[in-house]
Amino acid sequence: MLKFDHVSKVYKGGKRAVNNLTLEFEQGEFICFIGPSGCGKTTTMKMINRLIEPSEGGIYINGENIMDKDQVQLRREIGYVIQQIGLFPHMTIQENIALVLKLLKWPEEKRRARALELLDLVDLTPDYLEKYPHELSGGQQQRIGVLRALAADQSLILMDEPFGALDPITRDSLQEEFKKLQKKLGKTIVFVTHDMDEALKLADRIVIMRDGELVQCDTPDEILRNPADEFVEEFIGKDRLVQARPNIQTVEQIMNSTPITITGDRSLSEAIQIMKQKRVDSLLVVDDQRVLQGYIDVELIDQKRKKANLVSDIVTPAFTVEQGTLVRDTVRKILKNGMKYVPVVDQEQRLIG
Ligand code: ADP
Ligand code: MG
Repeated sequence: MLKFDHVSKVYKGGKRAVNNLTLEFEQGEFICFIGPSGCGKTTTMKMINRLIEPSEGGIYINGENIMDKDQVQLRREIGYVIQQIGLFPHMTIQENIALVLKLLKWPEEKRRARALELLDLVDLTPDYLEKYPHELSGGQQQRIGVLRALAADQSLILMDEPFGALDPITRDSLQEEFKKLQKKLGKTIVFVTHDMDEALKLADRIVIMRDGELVQCDTPDEILRNPADEFVEEFIGKDRLVQARPNIQTVEQIMNSTPITITGDRSLSEAIQIMKQKRVDSLLVVDDQRVLQGYIDVELIDQKRKKANLVSDIVTPAFTVEQGTLVRDTVRKILKNGMKYVPVVDQEQRLIG
């Protein structure tokens, strides 16, 4: 439904705000763009609705290059909620909601009917239509901002940190309300935030950016389980990472209660024993920061791909990472192969990770 094909933006003065972004999204997906301030999120949003032109590459909506669409067409297809929610203070709520409809030359009765319909979505009573923004709370104003972006029933909605300025309680309730609304309406949402909790809560897929570059695009689960690199890990935070892998705790407990000896020639058979008994699909023996030996149940990986999850009888020491590799990198690689956890033992056979 939405496709970025090698998209870059270089501002006057040479700042490369977005670099070589290639991504594809389905109709109905809730996508969160996340990254530190200045990483290019707003620039990306503005390129989608042509407030900014890409310097390189193309953006496609339903297969059509956005550069081939005029502004009226784009307004019909894309709703936009900007970073600093700006309701026009001198306009009533109805006028604010129906702003785009006026630009699209809808007649007055139709605009009113549509505004009423939309108010109902967020449980605001019809009398709100005649009120002015200052008569509404921050949360209510934000709801109106969202409704405004939905007014023309656009299939793609861009939202640039829409809930950023709200207090936490209002933000929480709006997030929930909005997620439900999105599911009900089946819109494709591109939602920008710098708040990982918000992204994890709302997104079907999260796009993590740094310095204009795509770092990772995955489901929240995948990102928590297999962060692409240290930057992502830091961004997620240790607490969430540990929470996302409760199995580590279980394996740790089991293995700590079992004396393990993996030395010399016996190491492979011991490893196999442990892997079978504990239903562990991989094992690394490490020395300080480096890998000495590693075992991965290859059949299990294949089975997992077929959605089975029994530990097979045959365990192959199919260790694809060289001895001496950093443990960190190895674990990451193994996790990427679809396994849940990787016990790491030191030379004294103590479980250390
Ligand atoms: P984000 O929304 O992730 O905070 P932006 O897309 O607003 O990031 O900005 C990305 C980078 O591009 C930043 O370094 C910012 O300073 C720069 N930038 C944004 N707008 C302009 C502009 N109009 N001219 C030059 N540089 C810009
Ligand atoms: Mg921004």
